[in-house]
Amino acid sequence: MAEEAGEPHVAGLLALYYADALDASEGARVERHLAVCDACRGAASEAAETVAALELLTPEDKLALSREDPPPPH
Ligand SMILES: [Zn+2]
Repeated sequence: MAEEAGEPHVAGLLALYYADALDASEGARVERHLAVCDACRGAASEAAETVAALELLTPEDKLALSREDPPPPH
């Protein structure tokens, strides 16, 4: 898989993109990258599903999930 200089992958931005948390220029960069990168397109559909699922949860559900599965300490 070729990775072009100056065009970083956007996998880390996808959740924010689907949650509508990116500003316009970042969102445009994500869209541009998805048009040319199969790997990030695959990650994008997963991120879209994850964000859609999270949006169905109530705050109480999210709290319960975070209690069951705490992030690892670092
Ligand atoms: Zn990519």
